Amino acid sequence: MASLRSKDNFAKRMQLFAPSHAVSEILGLAERPDVISLAGGLPDPSIFSLQEIRESMERVMNDEAETALNYGPNLGISSLREWVADRMQRLENVQVDKNNILITSGGVDGLNLTSMALLDKSDVVLIEAPTYMVALHIFRTYEAQLVSVATDELGLNPNALEEQLNNLKRSGIRPKFLYVIPSFQNPSGRTTTIERRKKIVELCEAFGVPIVEDHAYAELAYDKSPVPSFKSIDPDNVIFVHTFSKIFGPGVRLGWVAGTASLVERLGLCKLGTDQCANSLTQRLVFDFGSRGLMEKQVSFSIELYRKKRDSMMKAIEEHFPRHARYYKPAGGFFIWIELAAEIDTESLLTTSIEREKVAFVAGRPFFHDGKGGNYLRLSFSFPQQELIDEGVRRLGRALAEASSK
Ligand code: PMP
Repeated sequence: MASLRSKDNFAKRMQLFAPSHAVSEILGLAERPDVISLAGGLPDPSIFSLQEIRESMERVMNDEAETALNYGPNLGISSLREWVADRMQRLENVQVDKNNILITSGGVDGLNLTSMALLDKSDVVLIEAPTYMVALHIFRTYEAQLVSVATDELGLNPNALEEQLNNLKRSGIRPKFLYVIPSFQNPSGRTTTIERRKKIVELCEAFGVPIVEDHAYAELAYDKSPVPSFKSIDPDNVIFVHTFSKIFGPGVRLGWVAGTASLVERLGLCKLGTDQCANSLTQRLVFDFGSRGLMEKQVSFSIELYRKKRDSMMKAIEEHFPRHARYYKPAGGFFIWIELAAEIDTESLLTTSIEREKVAFVAGRPFFHDGKGGNYLRLSFSFPQQELIDEGVRRLGRALAEASSK
């Protein structure tokens, strides 16, 4: 008789999650207090504007507690949807209004709802190689077929995209969408250039493939002003997924999707079966905070702080890493992506780094859907305290020197 004690009782889907299981174990290890974690992409807690957030929270509880503690509208509260639409007009120069905005429970929810609404089993999704591991997890949930497109220091390569699109077309396949993180990508830190963005937009239009643009880190630009989003280049063919996690704080679990009104309605239907509506209380909190002009203040403060942390980590890597390591200075976001000699396996390096040197990172393989990337690793400079960045990288450099000498 089947029971919850039997693994046969679980959906076959659970087998598709095997790669993610390994990731959560690794991240758990990295949480040990004696380990310097350069692993998770958490914001630095000092970016939170505590005093102003307290004031907003107090105002919400004084003025709106009875609605804030209740269920909210399925697509999000009107005031926040309007504010998000206005802000997008200002920052992205796109004509959107409230009807184009769905408030989500973070970026992951936006990606999940979009996938639920668009993907049938075996549909093809084009992805960057490497890409965000949680997006891979979501696409696997819907049993999509993943086809990766090569990237380099200038971001997603349009020639490689064209080749894949032609290959698929010859087999009679039209991909459901292209998923891209064009600015300060997770994990590679790279940004797709404006020339390439334009080319990619043209190709996607020509082959009838929508773009799902993940904007998670794009506002955190440290060196130059941000490159125009895909959404601003081709508003009608781009589903734009953004989050308050990096610009405000992931604890509120809020983000949004910007798309056509009919997409937004369908995403709302999908949301009925997940959480019905995003958090009513934190939507009001974020609206109060944002409409006082404080979001831009927090973003500017974050940029100053993360730029310093990025520079410290780059300097430490230059000092402590072996010569064969290849890396690239990200112009924004949270991550530095390191390529090591082909014979180094970063999953076993991680075990020894944690055990002997008490330092953690994320190994590269889970960012690829096809088992590649075994000699890559991702470092995050956003969370560790400034003083620990050099020490963490020094320890990792020692672990690497040992692995390279084997
Ligand atoms: N996209 C990317 C590329 C991310 O790295 C993240 C956060 N790790 C997200 C989306 C969304 O995160 P959240 O659900 O916290 O908004």
